[in-house]
Amino acid sequence: MIDPWSSRILEYNKIMENFGIKPFKEILGEIKDPHWLMRRGIIFGHRDYERILAAINDGKDFAVVTGMMPSGRMHIGHKMIVDQLIWYDEQGAEIYIPIADMESYSARDIDFKESRELAIKEYISSYIALGLDLTQDNINVYLQSENLLVEDLAYIFAKKVNFNELRAIYGFTGSTNMAHVYVPLIQAADILHPQLGEYGGPKPTLVPVGPDQDPHIRLTRDIASRLQKRYAFILPSSTYHRFMRGLTGGKMSSSKPATAIFLTDTPDEIEWKVKNAKTGGRETLEEQRRLGGVPEDCIVYEILLYHMAGSDNELKRVYEDCRNGTLMCGECKSNVADYMRRFFEEFSKKRKKAEKIAESILDKVHQ
Ligand code: SF4
Repeated sequence: MIDPWSSRILEYNKIMENFGIKPFKEILGEIKDPHWLMRRGIIFGHRDYERILAAINDGKDFAVVTGMMPSGRMHIGHKMIVDQLIWYDEQGAEIYIPIADMESYSARDIDFKESRELAIKEYISSYIALGLDLTQDNINVYLQSENLLVEDLAYIFAKKVNFNELRAIYGFTGSTNMAHVYVPLIQAADILHPQLGEYGGPKPTLVPVGPDQDPHIRLTRDIASRLQKRYAFILPSSTYHRFMRGLTGGKMSSSKPATAIFLTDTPDEIEWKVKNAKTGGRETLEEQRRLGGVPEDCIVYEILLYHMAGSDNELKRVYEDCRNGTLMCGECKSNVADYMRRFFEEFSKKRKKAEKIAESILDKVHQ
């Protein structure tokens, strides 16, 4: 059982084997100009991505759905989703971004008003500043608690699922509050509602997620199968990405500031955090020259792997220079800190400008 609300670090290969997720590398060669997260193996698995690929190649309609849960500050781990959305926007996707305020309320005890404010300040502004134009007609951002179409659909889904099934998937117990029990049904409705007649009918739909969210995907696919006669839903496809580790080497978490670079950190804070992140360097310079470093154990390298858009060659050069002992951690950290500082100086200017637009996004009526 995978618990989508826990904070364990997951073993990716085991998950693929246990839950029938296919390796993404098997399909990578068929994608024209794949995203860097695909090329670098960060997106490592998929279910039924073939359908999405066919829609992209044939210029047909397809949807991408990915929610944001406004329960804390947005960090660079979350940025990965925005980077993917920008790519899918370029491929012609309809994009749906539910703000999971109902989940925040039931699982984190955050009220709807606070969720809305957090979503605008922390997430929507950052999405825009990262380069996703949320004012476009093909992009639909909404609060779960205000989307009656989604809520009605969740109620219809509820008839097709019983408590024993949810308990087996999520580990709910007799003391789990019923709002929390209802959340997976709302999420299934988030994922499938782009296929309703109101949005143009059935179409391939992709949900890019971390593997911890796979229980929601499996449940949603089951519900879609059970309602074939009524809706003719196409089973949603999914991709699975690895999580960037925290700066200290464990899990990156909004509730542990030392583990994460937040998108609202100042450039100075970010520079400091990079320079103090865990590396894969050796005890002494002499040892590092002789044995080389271990980029696989290094969070500084991971920052480049996940966030340095563009050329893979530059990344490869850092990897090789580290392994063969010609690059020392001091110089490397300083280069990465400079890179991040420049990125965030630019980003924070854009973010300031985006705040006004962010406030108007949730007032945009799509339903
Ligand atoms: Fe990490 Fe760079 Fe040190 Fe290698 S040289 S271990 S990549 S900080």
